Amino acid sequence: MINDSNRDKTLGETLREQGISRRSFLKFCATTASMMALSPAMIPKIAHALENARRPSVIWLSFQECTGCTESLTRAHTTTIESLIFDFISLDYHHTLQAASGHAAEQARETAMEENYGKYLLIVDGSIPMDNPGYSTIAGISNYDMLMDTAKGAAAIVAVGTCAAYGGIPHAKPNPTGAVSVGDLIKDKPIINVPGCPPIPVVITGTLMQFLTFGSLPELDHIGRPKAFYGKSIHDRCYRRPFYDKGLFAETFDDEGAKKGWCLYKLGCKGPTTYNACATTKWNDGTSFPIEAGHPCLGCSEPDFWDGGSFYKALSMPTENITRTVIYTAAGAAAAGVALGAMNRHKKNQAVATHNRTSIDDLKK
Ligand code: SF4
Ligand code: SF4
Repeated sequence: MINDSNRDKTLGETLREQGISRRSFLKFCATTASMMALSPAMIPKIAHALENARRPSVIWLSFQECTGCTESLTRAHTTTIESLIFDFISLDYHHTLQAASGHAAEQARETAMEENYGKYLLIVDGSIPMDNPGYSTIAGISNYDMLMDTAKGAAAIVAVGTCAAYGGIPHAKPNPTGAVSVGDLIKDKPIINVPGCPPIPVVITGTLMQFLTFGSLPELDHIGRPKAFYGKSIHDRCYRRPFYDKGLFAETFDDEGAKKGWCLYKLGCKGPTTYNACATTKWNDGTSFPIEAGHPCLGCSEPDFWDGGSFYKALSMPTENITRTVIYTAAGAAAAGVALGAMNRHKKNQAVATHNRTSIDDLKK
């Protein structure tokens, strides 16, 4: 986890040693600028700032969680620049990843807090149990005490995953542990919520990048999420949207509509009420996302998603635009054009190509 030889190096030096070419690095900066909705003019500034940035201390606390958020970040199959940037921070405490254990581990947390007081970034995953005293402790310290103690000297806190951001699954009814979110307890520090069950790795690293690059926090929405990643709904950016607009829905998981890639709204898709970057950033190094794999969005980046009723029951929304009589608007046509373009880019294998041809024909009818 912690590579002491890198402690005093800049990111530029670290990347060069890792064999990352200037071209790849600039490409990464361009992608990052576009993801953060920054103008291309910012690319040289991002590159310059990142190249000269030094490792900030990061303390990562895990409370009531499933380790999915850490797995999301660390299970990349290939070394990516994102993971190098994650290596580049000084991850001084993370009880799942660190080699140290027992007193040495706790000493590492205390030392990092002391040496970087007021400057370190605190990342939290998991919710905090407020009932059942004695439940969920680390080194004999309750989750609540550890959070409050570590938060005191943090410059900012990143609540990673829906559990830390909004309570998540532990908070779901009947909430036997009295689980609460980081924001329920900490009121005097900037908190960035990066929800998702788990969050998309590049969204976690993108948020860290903002801190690394500009030393500032990203612009947040009304529930504390970076607008750059959570500013639009899954539905707004879904490649199946033209089917929704035309009133073409899969009714079961194995009907003709499902096979043709029609909209999954009637199968319970929560895309219209869910704000996340899955439809554009995708998962597994940009390979796919749940809707592309034929499964409705569950709404995992929203508060109380687990208590929102059946995952497979359609949202109750106005249905006037969910019929075959819907007027195929200019906006819908434009979206269809985008979808057709996107589909054409996906001719990697014959099965997908066949599927897309069928779907395109449906849209043209
Ligand atoms: S599959 Fe879901 S997100 Fe995509 S268009 Fe249909 S309802 Fe919207
Ligand atoms: S598609 Fe929906 S449920 Fe799936 S990961 Fe994205 S936000 Fe979460």
